[in-house]
Amino acid sequence: MFQRTIKKNIEFKGIGLHTGCNSTVNLIPAPPDTGIIFRRTDLNGFCIEASWENVEKVFYATSLMKKGVYISTVEHLLSALYALKIDNLYIDIDEMEVPILDGSSLPFVEKIMEVGILRQKKKAEYFCVNSEIEVKEDDKWVKAIPFEGFKISYEIDFPHPAIGNQFFSSEIDEKTYREEISWSKTFGFLKDIEFLKKNGLIRGGNMENAIVLSENSIINREKLRDSSNFVKHKVLDFIGDLSLLGKRVKGHFIAYKSGHKMHTLLVKEIIKKVGEKIVG
Ligand SMILES: [Zn+2]
Repeated sequence: MFQRTIKKNIEFKGIGLHTGCNSTVNLIPAPPDTGIIFRRTDLNGFCIEASWENVEKVFYATSLMKKGVYISTVEHLLSALYALKIDNLYIDIDEMEVPILDGSSLPFVEKIMEVGILRQKKKAEYFCVNSEIEVKEDDKWVKAIPFEGFKISYEIDFPHPAIGNQFFSSEIDEKTYREEISWSKTFGFLKDIEFLKKNGLIRGGNMENAIVLSENSIINREKLRDSSNFVKHKVLDFIGDLSLLGKRVKGHFIAYKSGHKMHTLLVKEIIKKVGEKIVG
């Protein structure tokens, strides 16, 4: 398989979920072996590689930081890029947070498919999971097992009547990602909103970019495409976090009640235990 980038520049504008700031993002084709690199155009193009080495905090979103410079809420854009096998790209951004758009990764996927994907003249590299790797915390866990492909099985269990126990399992390719995963939206609970706001989060959150749940129901049910939204959005986030490996991966990933923190811990374990990449 060859490395890939996009055929033409793409621009997105919108509000950041947590900062509430408006930003403009430009996706720009990059040469082979570049990887995915954020550039803060408001800070003289300061570069932050989308890599596990720059993961900063994973509190309600995944943020990157290098030398005190942040890029927040990177997971939905990175998820779309990883699922579409975009290996090389510059992401120019004039603020510290990627726009939330409609709370899913569908707008990113649609624009990328519209401009097209360019196959480059260099082979892609893969991490191959060759033994079981597990991260556990209380009753939650996530693990990777050997598999000749890319597969995710994810189970969630929320004590909420609109969510409950949900399970999704599938090999992930461009088609399954686009049709099954990309449209699923960020979700949050009304009871957490006060706490999140006190912590300076979700300043840009609204009924258009997140599914909001009250104690017993979904407040903006009209925004929900399907009740499987919740487990599918966890898969979407997981793919974004996995992308921080910095290379493609072959393995079957199985998660139970996991989240950003455990996802990124798993990425670090894979780097430690799998080590070298293969070209394929
Ligand atoms: Zn998310």
